[in-house]
Amino acid sequence: MPTNSPDAPGPERDRAALLDRRRQLERASRPLEPGTTRRKQLRNAVVASSERFLRRIETLQAYVETDEKGAGLLRSPISEHGIPLDAALELLEREVVRPGGNPASGGHLAYIPGGGLYHSALGDFLAAISNKYAGVFFTGPGAVRMENMLVRWVADLVGYPAAAGGNIASGGSIATLAAVVTARDAHALKAADFAAAVVYLTTQAHYCIEKALRIAGLGQAQVRHVAMDERFRMRPEALARAITTDRQAGLRPWLVIAAAGTTDTGAADPLAAIADVAERERCWFHVDAAYGGFFLLTTEGRRALAGIERSDSAVLDPHKGLFLPYGSGILVVRDAAALADAHHYFGNYMQDAMREPGEVSPADLSPELTKHFRGLRMWLPLILLGTRPFRAALQEKLLLARYFYHEVQALGFEVGPVPDLSIVTFRWVPPGGGASLERVNAMNQMIVDGVRRDGRIFLSSTMLDGRFMIRMVALSFRTHRRTIDLALRILRDQVAAIPT
Ligand SMILES: *Cc1c(COP(=O)(O)O)cnc(C)c1O
Repeated sequence: MPTNSPDAPGPERDRAALLDRRRQLERASRPLEPGTTRRKQLRNAVVASSERFLRRIETLQAYVETDEKGAGLLRSPISEHGIPLDAALELLEREVVRPGGNPASGGHLAYIPGGGLYHSALGDFLAAISNKYAGVFFTGPGAVRMENMLVRWVADLVGYPAAAGGNIASGGSIATLAAVVTARDAHALKAADFAAAVVYLTTQAHYCIEKALRIAGLGQAQVRHVAMDERFRMRPEALARAITTDRQAGLRPWLVIAAAGTTDTGAADPLAAIADVAERERCWFHVDAAYGGFFLLTTEGRRALAGIERSDSAVLDPHKGLFLPYGSGILVVRDAAALADAHHYFGNYMQDAMREPGEVSPADLSPELTKHFRGLRMWLPLILLGTRPFRAALQEKLLLARYFYHEVQALGFEVGPVPDLSIVTFRWVPPGGGASLERVNAMNQMIVDGVRRDGRIFLSSTMLDGRFMIRMVALSFRTHRRTIDLALRILRDQVAAIPT
């Protein structure tokens, strides 16, 4: 066969075919790189969708019950060819944004709200556009400086010394895991010690702590539930007694965990008195300030959380008390070296990065390597607005909780403890007495269900000493006096609707 025949196999023909194939592939992948015009179309449609939401945020329901619960999404599976943007946004709005809780609503008074600052959304947008890598100083020096600067700002807020360090994680649970691992290594606990190691907390501690212990390999550790006072705060003298008893039994008191605002009732443990005990007993002292930490920006908050500066580590959730969208939890550690000792690592392929001197890299202070550039969503609102509006909003929430605490009693509800921060627990007990605990609990379940069906506000519930309690949490920056008054009116109507 002559080699110049067009259908001759040979290197020339292979090269031409490859070239052609590459052109085809480049063309087929072109949608991944939209040009100026297409970007504008995409952006305008997305912004329009966000405006459809935000312009109505005052009147959107805080909870929406639907039959499908978003299942309509599954009728449009991911396929070889995409769908038009308008169709995708319609799906998103109908099947994702609408059903269930609406955490962006000021009427969201359930669980722990936060809201989701607009400035943070724009920060996330910019972070994703440049896709700056904030894990290692070498490749993202400015991004790393930004995250470290924010961690330093939080460390200052807590009152830690210059040697402190920390990390911006995805949430309080992951930050808590990093704290537990740091405390484990700082006390040189080895597997053989785990069963004798003792952790002290109250039954009101967030379950992410026991989850973190288990993930950290410490599932066998002894967990002591320290006695609480009538306001669900840890009793420091009970803590001291428990530690003494454990030492006498040959155990190894290791970790004391207090809450700067529990999730259930917002109770702030007496941190200074607990610090005294932890210090004397040489235990690692961790403060869970995921919910309450940013109240340190207020005078009352500083008073309620006094002593937090004496802890070894603390977790604060910007996606709660700083109103950021979900996905931000900060761990700060008094001694940055302890955090680094527990987390740093070296891979051969990172050798270029290791030769660059500079700031400590987040990748050496957390389990994560490649991660979201979380600093920008926190930095943008803080640098643009300053701390003043945050301080004001948090102060307002403290006052709203106290206002609600009084007004809900005026409606005839029984209340739990006077709020340390911005959570109020309460329940309906029919006047005249005589109703059984089961009946009273069932009535309050009816009220919570009724409030959710109404949907204008969203409340959640908990059990305290066998009592079904309704919770009202004021923490969203969109929650104001009118929201609380609406909640009170809805509660009054729900009580009136209870079948007798
Ligand atoms: C929310 C919360 C946590 C858990 O934090 P996530 O950000 O939800 O992971 C831990 N402790 C307290 C007191 C909380 O309120």
